[in-house]
Amino acid sequence: MKNGKVCNVCGKVLDETQEDYLVIEKEWGYFSNKDGSHDRIRVCETCYDQWLEQFTQPVDRQQVTELV
Ligand SMILES: [Zn+2]
Repeated sequence: MKNGKVCNVCGKVLDETQEDYLVIEKEWGYFSNKDGSHDRIRVCETCYDQWLEQFTQPVDRQQVTELV
């Protein structure tokens, strides 16, 4: 299986069994310049935290109870 998942920002290899990371999928529509394109972005937690520091508005974060 040569489907290596890497962080799109820093290029780090993502090991799903060891860490969690952000996945964004977006199917661009008519009002964009990318109509018909389906984008998938992966961002490791380190880059995610750095990215959030650039936001002017805080993330809407809620605590969820994990079912173990
Ligand atoms: Zn990264």
